[in-house]
Amino acid sequence: MNIRRARLLKQGRHGEGPVLYWMHRDHRVRDNWALNFASLLSRRAEAPLLVVHCLDPAYPMARAEHFRFLINGLEAVRDGLMARGIAFVQLLGDPAIQVGNLARTLDAHAVVSDFDPLRHKRHWLATLCESTVCPVQEVDAHNVVPCFIASDKAEYMARTLRPKIHRHLPEFLDDLPEPPKQSRPSGANPGGITRDQLERAIPHLKTAHLPSNFQPGEAAALTALERFVTSGLHGYSTRRNDPSLDGQSGLSPWLHFGMLSAQRTALAVASSMAPSEDKQAFLEELIVRRELADNFCLHHADYDSTSCYPDWARRTLAKHAGDPRPYLYSKHELEAGQTHDPAWNAAQLEMTATGKMHGYMRMYWGKKLLEWTSSPDEAQEIAVYLNDRYELDGRDPNGYAGIAWSIGGVHDRPWAERPVFGQVRYMNFQGLKRKFDVEAYIAKVDMLAGK
Ligand code: FAD
Repeated sequence: MNIRRARLLKQGRHGEGPVLYWMHRDHRVRDNWALNFASLLSRRAEAPLLVVHCLDPAYPMARAEHFRFLINGLEAVRDGLMARGIAFVQLLGDPAIQVGNLARTLDAHAVVSDFDPLRHKRHWLATLCESTVCPVQEVDAHNVVPCFIASDKAEYMARTLRPKIHRHLPEFLDDLPEPPKQSRPSGANPGGITRDQLERAIPHLKTAHLPSNFQPGEAAALTALERFVTSGLHGYSTRRNDPSLDGQSGLSPWLHFGMLSAQRTALAVASSMAPSEDKQAFLEELIVRRELADNFCLHHADYDSTSCYPDWARRTLAKHAGDPRPYLYSKHELEAGQTHDPAWNAAQLEMTATGKMHGYMRMYWGKKLLEWTSSPDEAQEIAVYLNDRYELDGRDPNGYAGIAWSIGGVHDRPWAERPVFGQVRYMNFQGLKRKFDVEAYIAKVDMLAGK
């Protein structure tokens, strides 16, 4: 494998125990460079390989539905690993502390971790590095071009990141090998917790409802990818922006939970027979826009507050802070989808009832929060709360970047000045009506929500 996907976070003394792979973002066996790298280290050191996942019951903004999607997917991971002779242990609690304890108890040879740009994950890794004596490596198995290779600074917009990504694609968009197999027994029996214990620790886990079109796990993810490539990709470049149609891939929940590899997705799309403009449009979203979001969060630790907005946007929003708002809604009214705007209400319902709002409506939804709350700070706070709480793909760099784009002009440029928005790009109901059949969208959402 290309070992530039890995980077050493901490040097240390190699212990006598196993190589530990700490899975916390890329929850899959197939197409997982972090697992492949950990397996490579274990073969080189002639040490066993052990995969560990630690469920944090206090994970920021996670609901029972998110936990259920993850835990069911992890059961498939455990089975897939067992079939390949690789041991898996499930822990519960504060992940950095639990994984650090495990590494010390087992005298780990090394720890290999997933890469994640989010604040609390960077904190987990820093804590782990402080508490372990063995080397700690991190592998970016989530992005096609590893985030720390694509760019070493915050990129201004897609236009500045795109050429850097494209320059690296020949190196990183390579073929994916079969998942590793281990013939050496894991050696240790570190215990771990059972499904029953998880169900006792996470309120409402047993009864959490998962939408029928999003089944957890990498097998369901690969089926959805195949379906999209064979019957959804054709026409993507035009259909994806029409919320009344089913023109997007619908892959974001699996991509978010790392049950589907972006690289596998890119390879499947690139080699399909679909028209070139559809393939290019999809790969731009999947690679450039998605990796821009990771770049944004890695380089802006305040990615979920208004302080991350560019200077021009903060200035223009401050200038218009006192503008009268046409409508003012409380967080409760917004959460309940009780505004004067049927399209916005439908978008909110789509999110709360199905776990996934259409991408085009997400932009409109975010912009109206700016217009209908008392300040950008309030809009930002409510947007993050709703997005993280209800989207199955929420709590993701894409969400933080998308919200900061909608409300705070991140990765965008100044537009013509107008009330409330200042120079931040504006969207309105008339614009939706020009673009697609709003009534058909509302009817579609009502049908999906069983109304
Ligand atoms: P497709 O159009 O089929 O795209 C395929 C993949 O490309 C997506 O799954 C995603 O990984 C990536 N992608 C597509 N559009 C974008 C984009 N604009 N930015 C970054 N990556 C993109 N995406 C999330 O994954 N989680 C979120 O919580 C989230 N919240 C958002 C909130 C707002 C306010 C906005 C404006 C956008 C948000 N997005 C979020 C980005 C985008 O809307 C979704 O990724 C997309 O709608 C997911 O549906 P899909 O997989 O069917 O997309």
